[in-house]
Amino acid sequence: MTGQPTAPGAADVLHRVFGYREFRGDQREIVEHVIGGGDALVLMPTGGGKSLCYQIPALVRAGTGVVVSPLIALMQDQVDALRTLGVRAGFLNSTQDLDQRRATEQAFLDGELDLLYVAPEGLLTPGTQRLLDRGTIALFAIDEAHCVSQWGHDFRPDYLGLSMLHERWPQVPRIALTATATTATRDEIATRLRLTQARHFTASFDRPNIQYRIVPKNEPRRQLLEFLRGEHAGDAGIVYCLSRASVERTAEFLTAQGIPALPYHAGLDARVRATHQARFLREEGLVMVATIAFGMGIDKPDVRFVAHLDLPKSVEGYYQETGRAGRDGLPSTAWLAYGLQDVVQQRKLIDGSDGDLAFRRNAAAHLDAMLALCETVSCRRARLLAYFGQPGADACGNCDTCLNPPQSWDGTVAAQKFLSCVWRLQRERGQKFGAGQSIDILVGKQTEKVRQFRHEELSVFGVGADLRDAEWRAVVRQLLAAGLLTVEGDYGTLVLTEASDEVLRGGRQVMMRREPERVRPSRPKAAA
Ligand code: ADP
Ligand code: ZN
Repeated sequence: MTGQPTAPGAADVLHRVFGYREFRGDQREIVEHVIGGGDALVLMPTGGGKSLCYQIPALVRAGTGVVVSPLIALMQDQVDALRTLGVRAGFLNSTQDLDQRRATEQAFLDGELDLLYVAPEGLLTPGTQRLLDRGTIALFAIDEAHCVSQWGHDFRPDYLGLSMLHERWPQVPRIALTATATTATRDEIATRLRLTQARHFTASFDRPNIQYRIVPKNEPRRQLLEFLRGEHAGDAGIVYCLSRASVERTAEFLTAQGIPALPYHAGLDARVRATHQARFLREEGLVMVATIAFGMGIDKPDVRFVAHLDLPKSVEGYYQETGRAGRDGLPSTAWLAYGLQDVVQQRKLIDGSDGDLAFRRNAAAHLDAMLALCETVSCRRARLLAYFGQPGADACGNCDTCLNPPQSWDGTVAAQKFLSCVWRLQRERGQKFGAGQSIDILVGKQTEKVRQFRHEELSVFGVGADLRDAEWRAVVRQLLAAGLLTVEGDYGTLVLTEASDEVLRGGRQVMMRREPERVRPSRPKAAA
C-alpha cells in the first residue's frame, strides 16, 4: 500500500463522486480513521449514512474495498447505483452465472474495482480467500454487523466465521456497521469479530421526525384502515404482520378497501417477492404488507408510515422496523396496535421454540422490554433512547404519551382482584384458564363456560363489575408487562409469579396506564 492518504481526498470524493456538500454526523471522523488504517465499529440508525463510511475510504485507499453483506438480493441494485456515480463496483454471490463471476474476479485482480460486495458464506470459501490474496484489499466493511449476535433477531451463523479476516489479513482495516445499538450487542460484535482495537462511533439513535404511537388492539383491521385513511391517504408505507396468513389477508383487505397494497413474505415465490419489492421502491403510494422478512437494506426515503398489527419480539426489532419510516427526514408515523393476545402468542412461540433455557430466557427478557415500552406512561422516545444507552432525554412532544398523556391510576385493587381470581381457580379448583375466563368471572358474566365449571360459585364472581372488559384486558396486559403475572402453555393460561404474592398480600401498589380516549385519540396533524 502506498502513501498516507489525506483527508482532503475524502472531502473531494464526497463532493465529486457523491455530490454531497458536507459530511453528516460522525462520517468525517469515521472516514478519516479508516483511511488512516484504523478499525471501526459504527452504530448508526437506519438512514444515518453508514454506506459512505466505507465507500469513501475504499475509494481513497489503494485497492478494493471488500463489503460483506447478507443482503444478496440487493447487491445488484447497490452495485448499479454505484456504477451510475462512476464508482467501479462489482459483486460475488450465488445468483451469478460463471461468466459474470469470472469477469468480476478478473476486474478485482486487475485492480479495476473500487468496491466488491460479497456474501459472508462466499467470503468463507477457500476459493474466494485465495482470490483476495492475489489482489489488493483497501478495507473490509462488515455491514449489518449485528448478524453476528447469537441473541439477536437476525443471527447468521456465517458471520461468526468473519473473525478470521483479522487473522488472515491483519494489516487490512475493518469497519463493522449496524443500526442495532444496545450495549450488549455492541460488545458482542466487538468480541465475536475480534474488533478489540476498533474505535467505537455511536450516533444518536433519535429519529425526531418519527412519531411513535402504540394503541390497544381491538379490531386491528378497522383500526388500521382508520389510521391509513385518516392520516396517510395516498402515502407509501409498510404494514408488518406476524404470520404469512395475516399478511395475505391484510393485503387483500386493504386492496378491497381501495388502498393499493402488496403482500411480501418468505413463502412467496422469489420472483413475486422481487417484483413486489421493486414496485414498492419505484411506484408511489403503495402499501407493503409484510412479515419482517421484508425491509433490511431497503432504501426508500419516503416511507411515510410503518404500522405493526402484531407485537414485535423485541425493542431492537421495533426500532429497526419503525426506522424504515421517514429516512428523508420528513414527518412520519410509527403505529403499533397491540393486545393481550399478542403476549399470549409470543410466549407460546418462546415456550415452543427449539432453543435451550438460556435462549428462552433471553427471548422472554426481550419480550418483557417490549411490553414495558407498550405500557409506559412516560415518553415513548425517551424510553427507546434509554433502552439504547442514551438515558435522560426530555419528553419529546412527538409521541402518543406526550401528545395525549395517559392518566395513571391506582390499579392495586384491580390487580388484587384479578390475581386472586387466578389464585382461586388454581388453589380451589386446580384449574388454569386464559385471561378471557377470569375476566368473565370478575365482571360476573353468565357464560356457558362459567356455568359448565360452576365459576359463579367462586367468591370473586362479579367483584370486578366496576370495570369493563376492555379495561380488564388493559389490567391484564399491564400485569404481564410488570411481571406480576405470566402466560404459559399452548392455551395461553395465566399463572402467578413470585411477584404476584406481594400484590396479593397488599404489600405493593400497582400504578396503571389509563388510555387517554377509548375510541379514537384526537391528535395534532404532525404527520400532515
Ligand atoms: P444507512 O446505510 O445508514 O441506512 P445510507 O448510507 O443508505 O444509510 O444513507 C441514507 C441516505 O442518506 C442515502 O440516501 C444517502 O445517499 C444519504 N446520505 C448519506 N450521507 C450523506 C451526506 N453526507 N449528505 C447528504 N446525504 C447523505
Ligand atoms: Zn414523547
